[in-house]
Amino acid sequence: MVRRVAIVGAGVSGLAAIKCCREEGLEPTCFERSEDIGGLWHYTDHAEEGRASIYRTVFTNSCKEMMCYPDFPFPDDHPNYMHNTKLQEYIRKFANHFKLLQHIRFKTMVTKVKKRPDFSVTGQWDVVTEKDGKKETEVFDAVMICSGHHVYPNFPAASFPGIQKFKGCYFHSREYKEPEKFRGKKVLVIGLGNSGSDIAVELSTVASQVYLSSRSGSWVMSRVWKDGYPWDMKTVTRFQTWLGTILPRALSDWLYVRRMNWPFKHENLGLMPVDGTIRKEPVFNDDLPSRIACGVVVMKPNVKEFRETSVLFQDGTVQEDVDVVIFATGYSFCYPFMEDETIIKSRDNSNTLYKGIFPPQLEKPTLAVIGLVQSLGPIIPTSELQCRWAVKVFHGRILGRCGIKRKGETCPKEPCLLSPQRYGTSNTLQLDYITYMDELATAMGVKPSLPKLLLTDPRLALEIFFGPCTPYQFRLMGPGKWSGARRAILTQWDRILG
Ligand code: FAD
Repeated sequence: MVRRVAIVGAGVSGLAAIKCCREEGLEPTCFERSEDIGGLWHYTDHAEEGRASIYRTVFTNSCKEMMCYPDFPFPDDHPNYMHNTKLQEYIRKFANHFKLLQHIRFKTMVTKVKKRPDFSVTGQWDVVTEKDGKKETEVFDAVMICSGHHVYPNFPAASFPGIQKFKGCYFHSREYKEPEKFRGKKVLVIGLGNSGSDIAVELSTVASQVYLSSRSGSWVMSRVWKDGYPWDMKTVTRFQTWLGTILPRALSDWLYVRRMNWPFKHENLGLMPVDGTIRKEPVFNDDLPSRIACGVVVMKPNVKEFRETSVLFQDGTVQEDVDVVIFATGYSFCYPFMEDETIIKSRDNSNTLYKGIFPPQLEKPTLAVIGLVQSLGPIIPTSELQCRWAVKVFHGRILGRCGIKRKGETCPKEPCLLSPQRYGTSNTLQLDYITYMDELATAMGVKPSLPKLLLTDPRLALEIFFGPCTPYQFRLMGPGKWSGARRAILTQWDRILG
């Protein structure tokens, strides 16, 4: 019987985990290595070891109606997309409102999580923590890992021959904070992800020249969609997901490419993804196309070789006198505190967690990894639903892995919903947001029932189907329902348009 739950990390996922444990009558203890909540959104001027680090100007790319905790909408006066300090303000309000802080032990690092000798019977874990140099071991019935996956830089030095010879300065984007010290420099940013494009655009206001190197291109989207609406309120809908399932693949791909090319033709700006039909996370940047058009950011292909002061690219061009190289090459996920890391991360680095949460090989489903999946949807509601699902599995109210499933259920051979043809390969789980959320919600009996609503509340049913899939939908009915959910759904456009 699970009672005591250890939670590693007090970012947005860890806070959701505390709240969900409490809702199910469990006793959560959350360990946070830093002195504050918020994880990645707790900005500091220097990168801290073991914690995600963002630059000063990070804004969210999910809008406030899509990104909130499902029973805690953002205050009306918050803008649609927020600066990191504004989001941190909201996170603080959430933690205070639900009295979550009392469950957190700050400045306490989890240094080891290991199975107890009788794990196959009890499912229990030894959790070793360190605070002010003092080590402590406690026994927990379950562990929720909410330690984030934007912490450990992915820096494939072998893919960049000659980097050791390069005499300029180079570092990973994790260390980047603000542009001023790059005034007048020639900077090469490697990687066309969200960080790479943000940094390139920001530097282009002070640097003498910025080059942005991309191996495979990317879809670049604006936060502002047609008629000024937030992109995600218009595109992340049940109707769109349904269309994707009924249309022939070729037609759905054609429509997708057409939609992504709507604001401008990516080919014309050197941004076109190598395989445009793969639904991997686009880059959100409202300014990159115009910065390229103005020549202050120059797109470049992959780097072939670094020399002392210059860089040779795959297309044979050479860029002389490069002062700084910033590797915006993403992150690897890593769990240094796991005694046996292969429980979560298989040897070939692939991710095989059941429903993106539970290591399927464990004898007892008492270890949940939260927030490792990646989709076009926002992380806060995703983590929240994962936590609700995971604590129900701990309780034995739903089944959490192969081998102990209900009669008639089949055991998936691979993590649910993962389709390399559609989402590409990645070391996080790329999947379709609504399909994934519905899968978890169905198992808990909290998926909104459209046929029932069509009969009883047609206005709400139509908004749920054609409108944005906002998090309130998953607190509308069933266990854990929130009485404000219906109203929040029916007024969501009012809060967006202000
Ligand atoms: P984190 O925020 O990384 O928190 C993990 C916490 O665990 C940290 O506080 C850390 O100190 C603690 N911790 C780690 N190890 C230990 C340990 N051993 N012991 C104790 N404590 C530990 N997502 C969106 O949905 N929308 C966005 O707009 C968005 N923008 C982003 C912009 C950038 C630049 C980046 C990098 C990511 C963005 N993301 C966005 C994704 C982002 O990862 C999530 O929003 C979210 O912060 C993940 O929260 P988390 O709680 O899972 O992890």
